[in-house]
Amino acid sequence: MIVVMKEGATDAQIKTVTSKLNDLGYDVHPDRGVNQIIIGVVGDTRSLDPRILEILDGVTEVLRVTEPYKLASRSFKPSDTVIEIQGVRIGGPEVVIIAGPCSVESESQIHEIAATVRKTGGKILRGGAFKPRTSPYSFQGLGVEGLKIMNDAAKANHLVTVSEVMEISQIEFMEQYVDIIQVGARNMQNYSLLKELGHIQKPVVLKRGLSARIEEMLMAAEYVLSGGNSQVIFCERGIRTFETYTRNTMDISAIPVVKKRSHLPIIADPSHGIGIRDKIIPMARAAIAAGADGLMIEVHNEPDKALSDGAQSLYPEQLAQLVPELRAIAAVIGRTIE
Ligand code: PEP
Ligand code: MN
Repeated sequence: MIVVMKEGATDAQIKTVTSKLNDLGYDVHPDRGVNQIIIGVVGDTRSLDPRILEILDGVTEVLRVTEPYKLASRSFKPSDTVIEIQGVRIGGPEVVIIAGPCSVESESQIHEIAATVRKTGGKILRGGAFKPRTSPYSFQGLGVEGLKIMNDAAKANHLVTVSEVMEISQIEFMEQYVDIIQVGARNMQNYSLLKELGHIQKPVVLKRGLSARIEEMLMAAEYVLSGGNSQVIFCERGIRTFETYTRNTMDISAIPVVKKRSHLPIIADPSHGIGIRDKIIPMARAAIAAGADGLMIEVHNEPDKALSDGAQSLYPEQLAQLVPELRAIAAVIGRTIE
C-alpha cells in the first residue's frame, strides 16, 4: 500500500501519517519525489482500511500496490534507488563498469587483471572464488583464498569487489572480503540463500535465472528486500532459448522493462549473455543504449589459458577499446562513464 501526499504537504502532516502507521504496526518508507512524497507501507496491509489514512490532512490518496512484488516495485517507490559502495554509485546518472575474470585463479592473474580494469575505467572488480560449474570435474574456484587475494588486488587498485556466493555457509566470508555479493543465475530461486542475504547489509547483485521470467526475478529480489536489505541490483545475463548459435539469448528488452517496473538498478552481463568473445562488444553497446546502470564484463590477461569461460573473456586491449565507445553511447542518452 502507498499513501500519496498532497503537493506541499507539511512535515507535520507527513509525521501524523507515519506515526499512525507505526502505531498500527507498519514500517514506512517515505520517498521524496520532485513534487510529492509517497509513503510506502510495509507489512501485511490486507486488513488495513485505507479510509483511516485518506481522512488525514495532507493525504491525496491511498493505493494498493497491485504487483506481487511490493518493495521492489516502482509504484511503492517511484524514485530510482542509487546504491553506493565506497563512493561508487550504481543506479544514478553514471554507468558503472564492472570487469574481471570469470574465476580468480592466482595472485599474479588477479593483480594483473585488476590493474587493467582500473586503467580502462572500471570501478568494480569481478571474480569468482566459489564457482557454479556445470561439470563437477571443472575448476571449482579457489574458495576463501581466492576472495582474499581478490580483495588485496582490488584494494591495491582502488576498486570495489563483487563475487558469487553459492551457499549460506559462505556468507561469512563474503562479509569479510567482498563488497558486493553476487547471486548467480543458478541460485536466483534459492530462497533460503536469498532470505539469509536479506539479513545482511551488503549490496546483492541478483542475476537472472537461466529460464526465469522477469517477474520471477523481481519476486526473487523481494525475498532479499523483505528481510531488511534494500540494496539489490538486478543483472540481465541472458536466458536459455531454442537458439544454439549463442550460449544464451541476451534479453536486452529486460533492461527497460525492469527499469519501468522497479526502482532498483539493473546491470547487464553481455559475457554470459551471449558467451562468444567477439559478440560481447556489440551486446555491451546495446545494453548501455537500452539503459543499463552498469556492465559486468569478463576480461582475462590470457583468455586462452583461463580456467573458466576463456572463450567469452575479452582481451585487455578489447576492453580498453570498448570503454570509450560505451562512453560515447552513454553521452547520447544523458549518462556518463567516468
Ligand atoms: C559468473 O558470473 O561467472 C557466473 C557464473 O554467472 P551466471 O550465474 O550468470 O552464469
Ligand atoms: Mn563466467
